[in-house]
Amino acid sequence: MNSVIVVGGGLGGLAAAIRLAHAGHSVTLLEKNERLGGKLNLHSADGYTFDTGPSLLTMPWVIDELFTLAGRRSADYLTLEPVEPTCRYYWPDGTVFNAWQQLPRLIQEIQRLSPPDVENLFRFLAHTARIYDAVADSFLLHPFDGVHELLTLRLLRDGPRIDSLRSVDAAVRSFFRSSYLQQVFNRYATYNGSSPYLSPATFNVISYIEFAEGGWYVRGGMYELARALERLARELGVCIRTNAEVAEIMLDNRAVAGVRLSDGERIRAAHVIVNADPRDAYRRLLAGQVRTAERLARLEPSCSGFVLFLGINRDYAQLAHHNIFFSSDYPAEFAAIFRKRVPAVDPTIYVAATCRSDPQHAPPGHMNLFILVNAPAAGPRVNWERESGPYRDLVIAKLERMGLTDLGAAISYEQIWTPLDIAERYYAADGAIYGLASNNRFSAFLRPPLRARGLRGLYFVGGGTHPGGGIPLVLLSGRAVAERVRADS
Ligand SMILES: Cc1cc2nc3c(=O)[nH]c(=O)nc-3n(C[C@H](O)[C@H](O)[C@H](O)COP(=O)(O)OP(=O)(O)OC[C@H]3O[C@@H](n4cnc5c(N)ncnc54)[C@H](O)[C@@H]3O)c2cc1C
Repeated sequence: MNSVIVVGGGLGGLAAAIRLAHAGHSVTLLEKNERLGGKLNLHSADGYTFDTGPSLLTMPWVIDELFTLAGRRSADYLTLEPVEPTCRYYWPDGTVFNAWQQLPRLIQEIQRLSPPDVENLFRFLAHTARIYDAVADSFLLHPFDGVHELLTLRLLRDGPRIDSLRSVDAAVRSFFRSSYLQQVFNRYATYNGSSPYLSPATFNVISYIEFAEGGWYVRGGMYELARALERLARELGVCIRTNAEVAEIMLDNRAVAGVRLSDGERIRAAHVIVNADPRDAYRRLLAGQVRTAERLARLEPSCSGFVLFLGINRDYAQLAHHNIFFSSDYPAEFAAIFRKRVPAVDPTIYVAATCRSDPQHAPPGHMNLFILVNAPAAGPRVNWERESGPYRDLVIAKLERMGLTDLGAAISYEQIWTPLDIAERYYAADGAIYGLASNNRFSAFLRPPLRARGLRGLYFVGGGTHPGGGIPLVLLSGRAVAERVRADS
């Protein structure tokens, strides 16, 4: 069997490595950072533990399928728990809404907010279930390889069936009367780093998946998922090297020859799977591929994030595990992020308190708050070195106004990450969290393909390629790329 190198130890890279090692390939995985997991990572300080990236898991069956393939039970490696409520939402006027997973509680909650929307919820879920059935196979389970396969797909002809001719927001408004519920359902476009006012309504499948299958947490912290995959990969014989930065993908006559590490070491292989962001890889690792690099640089990145890790010396009883403090002007927020490429003046703020599920993540009586604000991808219009302090103050002040009284005074540990930090830590181009944005109905077809065009033996895996960003999708990307490598071996 040919040897395979995986560049990057994010979840997509790990999934691909596991599948190919299980199929008998000799796999070496090279990660530049000291720990695997990529954006799903860990930060601990002063008795507080924080997940640094994903905090909510959907489609847990994708994880089960990976372990089952390798002849294992996922339950022997990690424990998944549903989170109740999946999220607690707060509005500036004092309205609060709990998205319960248990249906009777959810119905009661919607009844309280907007009685006609109980029936509308079921109509919406029936509609989005049909979209899911139509797109699951070609977009999620067997993603295509890009624009060339577009012609063979019936999907474009099927625009109305998959609701791709209107925006997420237009579809959501056609179902729900309550402006609160409209905002809740619009939020799901941010799960792939896009705007609900621009991305096609096909992406309403994201809320369908969460409402139909639930939102999950990994006991001990989301990082346990990275640990579980690392353990499985090692058991299957993957050679894992951390602090190993790839500086160049070596080519020989338009075919992959191996990689050169930043310390000069060369490793030869017939197949190289890049889990690094493809836009960054073309710029940094494939210096001769200027035209592709330039084409990718012109595509719209997904949003980035402004992150605060706060250790708090008190307990805010109103906080659930997942909380969203909404902006009072959602369209203006997305216009700022995607059109003007500047931080929103009245941002929606996500607050995760994993200490609600894992009390050991903070000292007794304290809380570990992971605060994420959608931010524009890094670019010339924001000088984060200058603006991170004032923006941090704006976020804290908003949370104080919305009920986290005296939050600023309760902070006993603090760290800030701007889009520049996200870019630097993971080599994520522009600090984009989900690779490319899905802000128009052709975006999916413009993503870099799983199998690089014109360079034999080169592949991509993860949020920068197909089917897209987010934990389950990058794991499915691992499946799709492994199938291609096996077919080409
Ligand atoms: C703040 C934040 C919140 C998020 N919230 C959620 C959520 O709630 N739910 C969800 O499902 N998803 C969420 N995501 C998205 C999710 O984390 C990503 O889509 C997913 O983890 C990306 O996986 P990946 O396989 O694309 O690899 P990445 O995580 O991008 O990893 C790529 C790896 O490659 C390494 N690398 C890059 N270049 C080189 C090189 N030259 N040599 C060696 N190694 C290299 C990097 O260091 C990195 O470890 C969030 C992300 C962030 C940042």
